[in-house]
Amino acid sequence: MWIIFGNRTRAKPVEGGLRVKRYCAECEAATTWQECEVKDRVHVFFVDLFSMKQRRLVCTDCGEDVDLDEARTAPKPKPAPRALTAKEVKAKNADIEAELAALKKRLKG
Ligand SMILES: [Zn+2]
Repeated sequence: MWIIFGNRTRAKPVEGGLRVKRYCAECEAATTWQECEVKDRVHVFFVDLFSMKQRRLVCTDCGEDVDLDEARTAPKPKPAPRALTAKEVKAKNADIEAELAALKKRLKG
């Protein structure tokens, strides 16, 4: 049985397929995603023309779908930039001071 999720994806849930809670950018919420056979996805781009039927993970709320591979490698939040250690700050300051000293020397000379 083909189900239309949202208003764009015609999909057939895969029996025993992946079913996960996942963040949906379209719904802007965590929703249930179901592994589906997706039809009707004909794109102008040549890659998709050859894959009119494919396994994708579909948001059961809005029909947004993603590659299964993409779903397996869920977008991870970027690691926060590491704060400099006290030692590194000291080294950096020392560098700046050395540069300043060199500059002063050049200006005097
Ligand atoms: Zn959604």
